[in-house]
Amino acid sequence: MSIESLSQLTDPACAPRVVFKVGSALLVGQDGEPRREWLAALVAEIAAARARGQQVIVVSSGAIALGARKLGLARGGRGSLSDAQAAAAVGQIALAGFWAELLAGHGLIAAQVLLTLEDLEDRRRYLNVTATLGTLLAAGAVPVINENDTVATEEIRFGDNDRLAARVGQAASANAVVLLSDIDGLYDRDPRLEGAVRVPVVREVTSEIHAMATAGSSSGLGSGGMTSKLQAAEIAGLAGIALAIIDGRPVAPLAAALAEERGTLFCPPGKARARKAWLGGRLRMKGAVAVDVGAAAALARGSSLLAAGVTRVEGTFSRGDAIAVLGPDNAVLARGLSEYDAAECAALMGRPSPEHEALLGYAPRSALIHRDQLVML
Ligand code: GLU
Repeated sequence: MSIESLSQLTDPACAPRVVFKVGSALLVGQDGEPRREWLAALVAEIAAARARGQQVIVVSSGAIALGARKLGLARGGRGSLSDAQAAAAVGQIALAGFWAELLAGHGLIAAQVLLTLEDLEDRRRYLNVTATLGTLLAAGAVPVINENDTVATEEIRFGDNDRLAARVGQAASANAVVLLSDIDGLYDRDPRLEGAVRVPVVREVTSEIHAMATAGSSSGLGSGGMTSKLQAAEIAGLAGIALAIIDGRPVAPLAAALAEERGTLFCPPGKARARKAWLGGRLRMKGAVAVDVGAAAALARGSSLLAAGVTRVEGTFSRGDAIAVLGPDNAVLARGLSEYDAAECAALMGRPSPEHEALLGYAPRSALIHRDQLVML
């Protein structure tokens, strides 16, 4: 059953599996201390969701903010990567402890899962995460997930838990991702401006929608901002998952916001097949190929990408790597897994298929990117 309204997010028939993402600014006060009472009230709402028959995954930020306070680090532990890594190592213990203790108060078992970007970008590791989350949920536990900030370096970091939550939603085949924010949704302009209006429902994240988002978080504790929330909505949408942004600030924020339809709901366009959803949600590409008008049109009709339509090859990639497909205007049209490495792509580009065997010296593949390994954006 597709999700068309925020209130459906509490309905186990529409949303049997939900990811709740809780930002640092909600969990940790400006003084660096955890907001225990607020968290206790949220956990009571999570327990109520469980009692209704919904499975719940929590993506919780706050490790860096909590750890920075304990270690006495400046700028909330975000002054440098090494500060953030050290702060997360200290804060994560406390963070997991709060969740475990409060969930146990409702008879629920917390399961800590720390993930890096690579755990979800690599197909094999992604499937492993999927299996583990499935086992935990089937056993009745509440996975409490954060990025493994202590080992993630700048290049391989999500950096924000919004996109992590969307990726986790994909990996867990969730029906919805709810981002608890310090604002009650997406506004049509900077929400501080007079006349700014909240957008209740978004059916497609267009360039106009992106233009509404202002980067940066107002609290200074988290790292997400509206831009990463829109990216999260796109990732979720590719997997057919609804995503909601609601105001997490009130005590017990879920019931009121969802019942009163106060937030922004991103309705997914349709359900993508699992492998394509994973591919579409990937954040890093190893390279790119540009294509001509004819190939772009063929891709739009659902065809595979043939080397004859390729005009340029960028980057160093191997067979099986994820690459971007750029249109004649250089906009990203699609992503897919390349059947050839970059040098082979360069040798074959612009050349018709019957010539490929002679160019390669071995039997060619049917396409440069097969349509089953390709997702249009
Ligand atoms: N993983 C970070 C933490 O636990 C938070 C990232 C974010 O602000 O979204 O502190």
